[in-house]
This record gives sequence, structure tokens and C-alpha cells, in this order.
Amino acid sequence: MKLHTTDVIIIGGGVIGLAIARKLAQANQKVALFERNAQPGGEASWAAAGMLAPQAEAAGPGVMLDLCLASRALYRNFASSLQQETGIDVELRTEGTLLPTFAENPEPLRKFADWQQKAGLRAEFIAAEETRRREPHLSERITGAVWLPDDWQVDNRRLTRALIAAVYAAGVEIHCNAANLKVCIERDRVTGVEVGLERWSAPVVVNAAGSWAAQMPRELLRLPQASVRPIRGQMLALDMQPPTLLRHVIRTEQAYLVPRRDGRLVIGATVEDGGYEKTVTAGGVAALLNGAIEVVPRLAQMPLLETWAGLRPLAEDQLPILGETDLKGLFCATGHYRNGILLTPITAEIIASLIVGEDPAVPVASFSPRRFSA
Ligand SMILES: Cc1cc2nc3c(=O)[nH]c(=O)nc-3n(C[C@H](O)[C@H](O)[C@H](O)COP(=O)(O)OP(=O)(O)OC[C@H]3O[C@@H](n4cnc5c(N)ncnc54)[C@H](O)[C@@H]3O)c2cc1C
Repeated sequence: MKLHTTDVIIIGGGVIGLAIARKLAQANQKVALFERNAQPGGEASWAAAGMLAPQAEAAGPGVMLDLCLASRALYRNFASSLQQETGIDVELRTEGTLLPTFAENPEPLRKFADWQQKAGLRAEFIAAEETRRREPHLSERITGAVWLPDDWQVDNRRLTRALIAAVYAAGVEIHCNAANLKVCIERDRVTGVEVGLERWSAPVVVNAAGSWAAQMPRELLRLPQASVRPIRGQMLALDMQPPTLLRHVIRTEQAYLVPRRDGRLVIGATVEDGGYEKTVTAGGVAALLNGAIEVVPRLAQMPLLETWAGLRPLAEDQLPILGETDLKGLFCATGHYRNGILLTPITAEIIASLIVGEDPAVPVASFSPRRFSA
């Protein structure tokens, strides 16, 4: 068996594994990253819509909202340092988000804006006329909207490409086609991984395998099999004509619309709890198109460019899983569900701090993998 030695091993080459690898390599750690597919970045991180939406996603105040806000606050620097390192613009768009409603009584939306304001966040209920002044192609049937100026978006496919380039530039080894990877344990701690006839020794292994994080043998990865499962999201893209037809992220109960700078309009997403299947269905696409055309009727004229589906990693209690497991040296960074693009910078900071023995900048006890230990 061929032997290698490194400081940290990362399993999974999505945005989470890549961002952790980058952060650690920049802190002078020797990092090896293992990706099961032929290329990194081809799963949820590629499939996402790229909304950075702590406020639109929040059901109320709490630890999850705090974590999401902390990550959003890092995004401007995260995007600009990636551009400096790689020359790739991840197209962070800060025009903000509109949540239009068709309801005769928009009281629930007003209440939503109220609790956010009380929590110190910028959120405002605006009348239909003002909403359409900001986005003239919205349906004449809308009765108002909540305006969230600080919920932004990034092009997640560009982000993934930038992270791959940054990780290579920082000297991380990426090993693709790493199927059947085995985690090695000696006595009470992790000691590395084996892939085929090669072995990498390291005192730290990070499980960043997204929806597959709990699919490795339970005794090795210390996560119950049911603790992380995939939630399918179907998506599609239209070719906006003109390319500046919409500027804001627009979210209704039926669909969200995310306009990219190049004129692609990303529309999503279904939420389906049906295993690891990534099929795109007629019903899924029809529901998304109906929802999109209802809120922006002109979209009925636009060419359909692409359809796809991806799997969001959902933890049992819907919170991310961040930190060291009860096996020494084995860390988890998964369960980011609908917010993994948003949570990428804070996750990298938290996991890198824990690995190098520093206190993370935000409270992390609620996200510990140890919460699943019997
Ligand atoms: C349709 C959809 C829309 C979304 N929209 C948004 C959004 O607007 N905003 C937002 O913040 N988030 C969004 N998300 C969520 C976000 O995409 C995810 O939370 C995030 O990408 C998770 O990143 P990850 O690196 O953990 O997972 P992934 O990107 O899935 O990466 C995990 C990687 O691990 C690899 N892997 C798995 N098992 C192994 C193994 N045994 N060995 C080696 N490698 C392995 C996989 O091949 C994969 O490349 C969306 C997700 C979907 C599906």
C-alpha cells in the first residue's frame, strides 16, 4: 500500500469542503480533499439558486437566523478575496429581494416585516404600486410585497469554480473518483483514509459529503444513518429578454426567480423528500413555470434554457452539523439544507477555527454533531 501524510483530509468537494480546504491551506495546513465524482462541485453546490437569504428563509429569531446573518455579513469580503485569488467574479448581486403577495389581505406579510424590524433587520412592507415601480414586469394582480434590501444572491456555479481555483492555488491536493473511501480509526481516534491501494495518514478528517454524509458506515462516521437525508429540488432557467427584465430576487409561495447578470433567470424549486433520485419531472417543471408566470406574466414568452435537479442535505432537526464528533479528530460539516451557499463562509471559519484550536467567532454548541450521540 502506498502511504502519504497530510495535516487534514476533507471528504467531499462541494462548496463546504472546498471552502474549508481553502481556509485551512491559507492557515498553512497541508490539506488533501477527496471527491467521489469525476469533478468536484457537481452536486448541490452546482444545482443551487445562490440566494443569500437569511431573512426570507427565517421562520423567526433563533440560532439558525443568527448563523445565517453572520455568514451573510462575511459575503462581500469572501467574494472579493476569491476574485483577488482567482480572477473569477462570483457575481454577488446586492439589489435585494422582493416577496410579493396576491392576497387581498396582506396582513401576514406585514407581520413578517414587523418581527424582522423588531429583530433589528431591514424589512419593509410596500404597496403594490411601489413594488411595481421597482420591478415593472410584476403581475398587476399583486397586492404588495415585503422588501428585503439585505437578502442578496451570488452565482453559485461561479462560486464553485472560484473555490476550486482558489483551493488549487492554495496548494490543496484534490483527488477525484475517490469512490469507496474508507476512514481509518486506531483506538479512540481517526488516523486517515484509504482509497484503493493508497493510504493518507492525518490526525483530522472532515466529513463534508453533503447529502451523503451519513451514508458511510455508522461506526466510522458517528452519524446515525437517518440523521442526514437528501431533499430534491428541481430547477429551471429561462433566457430573459431583455436580459435586464428583472433585477431583484423575487420569491412567492410557488416559486423563486433569481436573475443572473448574463440574462439567465434561475427559477426554483421543488422540495421533495424522495431519496437520492435526481430526476426532473413534468409536474415539477409545470409547477415552477406556473408559479413564475403567475408573478411575471411576460415570462410565458421566454425561451426555456435548462432544467436540472439537486439534493439538499437535511439534518433530522433541520440545523447544520458543524464540529468535532465523539471520535477524536473526526469533524462534520454538513446538513446545510436550503442555506449551504449562504453558510459557506461562516462554515469554513468555524471548522478551520475548531481544527486549529481557536474559539469560533460565533456560538456553535447548537450545531455540534454530538447532539446525535445516544
Ligand atoms: C435546488 C437547490 C436549490 C438551492 N438553493 C440554495 C440557495 O438559493 N441558497 C443557499 O444558500 N443554498 C441553496 N441550496 C442548498 C445548497 O446548495 C447546499 O446546502 C450546499 O450546496 C451544500 O454544499 P455541500 O458541499 O455540503 O454539498 P454538495 O455540493 O452536495 O457536495 C458534497 C460533495 O461530496 C461528495 N461526496 C459524497 N459522498 C462522498 C464520499 N463518500 N467520498 C467522497 N466524496 C463524496 C459529493 O459527490 C459532492 O460533490 C440549494 C440546493 C438545491 C439542491
